[in-house]
Amino acid sequence: MAADYFDSGADMVETNSFGANRYVLGKYGLGDRVVEINSLAAEHARSAAPAGRYVLGSMGPAGELIEPMGTATPDDLLATFADQAKGLEAGGADAVCIETMIDFDETKIAVEATRANTKLAVMATMTFDKGPKGFFTMMGLTPEKVGERLTETGADVVGANCGAGIDQMIEVVSRIRSATDKPILVHSNAGMPIMQKGSVVYPETPEYMASRIHDLVAAGAGIVGGCCGSGPDHVRAFVKALRG
Ligand SMILES: [Zn+2]
Repeated sequence: MAADYFDSGADMVETNSFGANRYVLGKYGLGDRVVEINSLAAEHARSAAPAGRYVLGSMGPAGELIEPMGTATPDDLLATFADQAKGLEAGGADAVCIETMIDFDETKIAVEATRANTKLAVMATMTFDKGPKGFFTMMGLTPEKVGERLTETGADVVGANCGAGIDQMIEVVSRIRSATDKPILVHSNAGMPIMQKGSVVYPETPEYMASRIHDLVAAGAGIVGGCCGSGPDHVRAFVKALRG
């Protein structure tokens, strides 16, 4: 998988460790192997990385909300994100990419866990939904608030990922840009998934997303990539549109 993305021309490729925390791995009886599994994920991506390219250690939501909404305590989350970050660093990641976050408090804990336990660069991106009143995270923060608060955590790179397609991301990014001087990372879904003949299809083609990528950069994105439904062909189209 990592080789396919590096071959597409990506400068940075994420590890397949999105759910490799104690809570998600625990559902498979692997909750006590967080460090080992993250280390392997980073090793595998690193082994496919040409010289001068980067491996980002993916760190998604714990899958358990902080109490009282869920059962996780801040200390539990800090401990599992610390193990995840340590494993990713041990396996050779260059940075941790905290992503698809819906709860700012959990995001902040993941940034702190990485900072306190590794020397890795830290990227943190949150996910927005568009409702009748515009864009908010699930817990009710606007893009401006997210830009401001992620910057306050001390993350090196802030931004948005996942979501409902590249057109929505352009507005989200311009609003985050208005609230921070940090570099902005955006990895967008290829639109909202639809069911077609019993399988999940993402409607935005590589050509369509690439046609909008200059507007995303103009809105303030410094690092761009793909999230759900956008594979190596999408990245190849972004590289073609942006290089030079
Ligand atoms: Zn996604």
